[in-house]
Amino acid sequence: MYYTSTRDKSIRISSAEAITKGISAEGGLFVPTEIPHITLDDIKRIGTLPYTGRAKEILKLYLTDFTEDELNYCVEGAYKKSSFSSEKIAPLYKISDKESILELWRGPTCAFKDMALQLLPYLLSVSASKTLKDTKIVILVATSGDTGKAALEGFKDVDNTQILVFYPVDGVSPMQKLQMTTQEGNNVSVCAIKGNFDDAQSGVKSIFTNSEIKKKFAENHLAFSSANSINWGRLVPQIVYYVSAYCDMVENGSLKLGEEMNVVVPTGNFGNILAAYYAKRMGVPISKLICASNSNNVLTDFLKTGTYDKNRNFYCTASPSMDILISSNLERLLFHLSGENDAEVREYMKLLANSGKYTVGEQLFEKIKELFRAGYCDDTLTKATIKENFDKYHYLCDTHTAVAVKVYEDYVSESGDKTPTVIASTANPYKFSASVLSALTSDVQSTDEFSMVDELHALTGEPVPPQLATLKDKKVRFGDVTTKDDMANVVFKMLNI
Ligand SMILES: *Cc1c(COP(=O)(O)O)cnc(C)c1O
Repeated sequence: MYYTSTRDKSIRISSAEAITKGISAEGGLFVPTEIPHITLDDIKRIGTLPYTGRAKEILKLYLTDFTEDELNYCVEGAYKKSSFSSEKIAPLYKISDKESILELWRGPTCAFKDMALQLLPYLLSVSASKTLKDTKIVILVATSGDTGKAALEGFKDVDNTQILVFYPVDGVSPMQKLQMTTQEGNNVSVCAIKGNFDDAQSGVKSIFTNSEIKKKFAENHLAFSSANSINWGRLVPQIVYYVSAYCDMVENGSLKLGEEMNVVVPTGNFGNILAAYYAKRMGVPISKLICASNSNNVLTDFLKTGTYDKNRNFYCTASPSMDILISSNLERLLFHLSGENDAEVREYMKLLANSGKYTVGEQLFEKIKELFRAGYCDDTLTKATIKENFDKYHYLCDTHTAVAVKVYEDYVSESGDKTPTVIASTANPYKFSASVLSALTSDVQSTDEFSMVDELHALTGEPVPPQLATLKDKKVRFGDVTTKDDMANVVFKMLNI
C-alpha cells in the first residue's frame, strides 16, 4: 500500500517514509491511497485475539512494508501489560443498556495519547532503519497537554532520537505541566511558549517546512519527525481500538455481529474521531460518528454548516486538551470525502491560512452530514455531567469524557436514536482533579493539586494512578518559557547546532 499527500496526490511513498517524514514537504498530510477492507468474519476472528493480536491484524493492512517480525516487535513492545493498568489495554465499560465507555487512558501517562504514543517510537525507529542511514531523528511536539507527556514517555531514551515538547504556558492543567516538567531521560527537553496551542502547533509546522532549517539539519545528520497526530504513525494505532471496541461490544452482548454502533469522541485535533472514520470505512459496522467539542466549538459549527471559521474567541476550558481552533486532521477527511481532490484541499487550506475561514462545496458537505453529528458543551454543563454520571452510575469521568457524555445525551434526546453507543473516554479523572472535584462538591477544602487528588479519592474511592501520585516528589527539570518567534532557536540550542 502507498501513501500520498492531501495537497499533492502525485506523491507515492511507503508507510515507513510517511512515518519518518511526519508531514509532506508542501504542507499536506500523508494518507493511504486505498483503505483496506475487513469482513464480519475477519472481525469475528480478530475478536478472539488479545489486544496485541488485534493490533497486529489491523496494522499489517496499513503498514505493508513492515515485516511480520517488525510488527511483532513494535506491538509487543508498545502494549506491554506492565505499562497499562488493564489487561485489556483499552477496556470497554458498559455503564447502561445503550452506553459503553471505551477507556483509552490505561497507559503510562493516563491519557488516550498513550494508545498511539507507546507504539509510535517503535514504528518510527523501524521506519527510520528502512529509510534513513546515520541520521538522528528529532521529534518536535506541540501539545495541548497530553500529547507532550505521552510523547516524552514514549521516546525517552530511545536510541537515535531526541525529543522537544512545546506547550502553551497557561494552557495546560497543573498535573499535565508537572508531568512534563519533571520528565526524566537523556534525550528529552520541554519548553513553554507564550501563546495558545494553535500558536505552538503552527510554530512547529513552520519549523518543519522551513527549507533553510531543513538544510541545516541535513548538514548535521539530523531529520525532523512529528509525534503529533499529523503523523500517520499516530493515527493508525487509533484505528485498532475502534475495531477492538466493536469486538468487545459483540462480546458483552450490546450488539450482535453485523449490527451497528455509534461512536462519540471528545474532539480537538480531529485525530481520534478520524480513526473511527477509517474504522467505519474499513467495514466496522459504525453508524454515526458524533463529534463532541467544548466551548471552542469550531468543529460543531463546521459539521453543521459546512463553514469552518476559526475567527472567534479562544477559550481556556476545563477540558484543555480540546482547546483547539485549528483541527489539523480535518484536512485528511476533506481529502477522502472530496474524492481525493488535492486541488480542492489546497484551496481550503489556503483560505484557512489567509483568512481563517472556508466553506466546503455542497457535495462534500452532503457527505459530511451523512456521516457526522456534532455538539458542544460548556464548562458548567461539563461539570454537571460529571456529577450526574457519578451519582447515577457511580462512574467517575474526566472533563473531556464528560463533554462527550453530555453531547451524546443531547444527541439522543434530539434524535431518539437508540443505537448502542461507544463513548471514547480520553483521560483519567485525576489528571484534572481540580475541575472534577469542584464538579462533585461546592465545598472543596484543598488548595494544592495533590491534596485535591487526596480529597477526590476520599470522596469517590476511585484508585489514584501511582504515576500521578508520585509526581509530588519529583524534581522539576524544565522551566524555560519562550516566544512563538523564538521556537527555532530553542531547537538549535537543544541540539547544539
Ligand atoms: C488529545 C485529547 C483529546 C482530543 O483528541 P484529538 O485526537 O486531538 O481530537 C481529547 N481528550 C483528551 C484527554 C486528549 O488528550
